[in-house]
Amino acid sequence: MDYLLSEEQKMIQELARKVAQEKMRPVAAKYDQTEEFPWEIIKVIAEADLFGLFIPAEYGGMGTNVLNLCIATEELSRACGGIAVCYAASALGTFPIVLFGNEEQKKKYLPVLASGKKLAAFGITEPEAGSDASAIKTTAKKEGDHYVLNGIKHFITNGGDADIYTIIAMTDKTKGARGASAFIVEKGTPGFTFGKKEDKLGIRASSTRELIFTDCKVPKENLLSKEGMGFIVTMKTFDMSRPGVAAQAVGIAQGALDVAVKYSKERQQFGKSISSFQGIQWMLADMATQIEAARALVYATARMVDSGNTSVAKESAMAKLFASDTAMRVTTDAVQILGGYGYMKDYPAEKYMRDAKITQIYEGTNQIQRSIIALQLIKGMAK
Ligand SMILES: Cc1cc2nc3c(=O)[nH]c(=O)nc-3n(C[C@H](O)[C@H](O)[C@H](O)COP(=O)(O)OP(=O)(O)OC[C@H]3O[C@@H](n4cnc5c(N)ncnc54)[C@H](O)[C@@H]3O)c2cc1C
Repeated sequence: MDYLLSEEQKMIQELARKVAQEKMRPVAAKYDQTEEFPWEIIKVIAEADLFGLFIPAEYGGMGTNVLNLCIATEELSRACGGIAVCYAASALGTFPIVLFGNEEQKKKYLPVLASGKKLAAFGITEPEAGSDASAIKTTAKKEGDHYVLNGIKHFITNGGDADIYTIIAMTDKTKGARGASAFIVEKGTPGFTFGKKEDKLGIRASSTRELIFTDCKVPKENLLSKEGMGFIVTMKTFDMSRPGVAAQAVGIAQGALDVAVKYSKERQQFGKSISSFQGIQWMLADMATQIEAARALVYATARMVDSGNTSVAKESAMAKLFASDTAMRVTTDAVQILGGYGYMKDYPAEKYMRDAKITQIYEGTNQIQRSIIALQLIKGMAK
């Protein structure tokens, strides 16, 4: 389908595709197996200038453009969902600074993140606060020139490998959701350490770690926006980043379809290629149609965000929900088309299926996305 991309967007797409196919694809299985952090590829992505796609030009990026980020994320995910999430999670950690940082914070952190020399991460989830983010227990107590952070974040993508973290902590527990605030915390700050690294089903090239704050003194200049804005920062960040998760899902689904089409033409059974069987053809047709519908929703949502529309919670949730459910269905069908070989690690289909699953879970599970969509519908009908 022709999405009428600008010349610049076509260039980003080609560049990301080249990096993905030439540099990522050949090492995707290796990183999946070893779970090493893919620094060599992060360096290539940085050299291709893809880290600054959504960062304003005055801070070293190419302008606040979510569609650019989605296009690049999709192409990278088509080759490896795990490596691509290291890239996308840095955007997740950077958006709060783009959206809510003051001039000094933007000048200090955005250029180095736009260059890809340092990675960012975002931390809200805690062992007892997942879908119910308002249950977070990490505290930030103001003491003179500092806030003192105490608590644990877990399941944090790029945890330990990123240098710059956006952390949501309670500055006033008595105020409930209005008592949370957002902070920029640098790796190396005394009292900030890393705990368990998770052993995961998919996206195994990416690191998922625990962040531990023990009397961690963060300068008061690192407060993002104002005290009490932590959940607004989080929700507005997710509105911008969820189309990126959706783009990751589209890329993973497309990668799996590519594998399935190629295999179906090569595999012979009953004296013919399996692609000549209508049963296989119809599966391929459904997979391609679902991917195109997901892509259209993602691009339309990203364009809506880029137009400056700030009421995008419903559309961002829809894009993430639809694209991730599509990725799960398509990758499962890809495994089916490869038959027994689809189940084996010698072929890439099973990895796409494992990588797809997380897109239905993080940045809010798909149950939570449905709740967000329903809430917006009901609110809208009440008007
Ligand atoms: C690999 C990975 C990377 C991650 N990266 C990050 C990161 O970088 N930063 C970060 O902050 N977090 C991150 N997360 C955390 C992620 O966002 C949470 O895991 C997710 O929001 C779900 O929370 P939970 O795991 O505690 O599940 P729970 O909230 O305990 O949910 C369990 C089940 O109950 C369902 N459920 C819960 N509440 C409702 C409800 N009201 N209605 C219907 N169903 C409901 C859920 O949909 C789910 O099916 C990551 C998680 C993983 C696995």
